[in-house]
Amino acid sequence: MGFRWIDGHCDAPSNGGILKAGGHFSLPRARALGSGLQVLSLFARPSAENKPFVEALRQLEGLERELALCPAPLIRSKKELALLLQGCDFGLMLSLEGADALEGDPERLRFFHGRGARLFGLSWNNDNPFCGGIGDDREGLSDLGREAVPLWEGLGGLVDVSHASNAGFWQALALCKKPVVATHSSVAALCAQPRNLGDEQLRALAEKGGVAGINFFPTFLREDAAEACAADVVRHILHALNVGGEDLPALGSDFDGIPSTPEGLRRIEDLPALARALEKNGLPARQLEKILYGNWARVLGETLPD
Ligand SMILES: [Zn+2]
Repeated sequence: MGFRWIDGHCDAPSNGGILKAGGHFSLPRARALGSGLQVLSLFARPSAENKPFVEALRQLEGLERELALCPAPLIRSKKELALLLQGCDFGLMLSLEGADALEGDPERLRFFHGRGARLFGLSWNNDNPFCGGIGDDREGLSDLGREAVPLWEGLGGLVDVSHASNAGFWQALALCKKPVVATHSSVAALCAQPRNLGDEQLRALAEKGGVAGINFFPTFLREDAAEACAADVVRHILHALNVGGEDLPALGSDFDGIPSTPEGLRRIEDLPALARALEKNGLPARQLEKILYGNWARVLGETLPD
């Protein structure tokens, strides 16, 4: 069967695309490595030269052009996910990182959903009209955010709180009817960064049936970031497991979005080495499979449209 994984966050669409030769992730290299699923984010910076909606559209159209050259299944439903995993194929899923690209109009979620997006990050680090971001950490969910969340869940989308402000995190969890995910955040108890999740947040995500995709960014892994290595990612995964249970930890590499990577975990080809490091720590095969793909597969299988 080869190596199988599901990763909850990669910024390739805003950073060179999925067919580039270098970078942390590329579609041909992922396919050569094994089977599973990569979530790709559309990330329109608020400071983009274009309006954020046009910028997200530019990334989406770029991705669609690349998929015309190098086809891969874009997973949008429970059925497509089940077929992908049964067939040991490699597929992609789209996410919208931050509500900036909606430009104040919740109905634009229908547009992104129609083009395949299935995860919606309420904010990036900045506040936006829908939700406060953790970089500013002033606002929670606004009225627009309270309108957008049920609309998105009704479409069969997952809410991602990775960059949400503290108030936004807790308000989103209270409002959501379905599991909530943090696609690419690490553990605050091991590295006190605002982008990382506190133990209470880990427990709350677990109680909600969600997952925490552990981010590989050295700055989120340890204070002396330059020393970060694959063993640090293992520590963060194990902490999330100990606090939230074996159904919580998952992969959220942030590949092609992070400016540096830990030693031994530089690109997708290094994921099997991470799996071996987890195994060496005595994780039983069942837990290892959950971390590598099973937890993502479960939460997506419960939440996606039929
Ligand atoms: Zn991010």
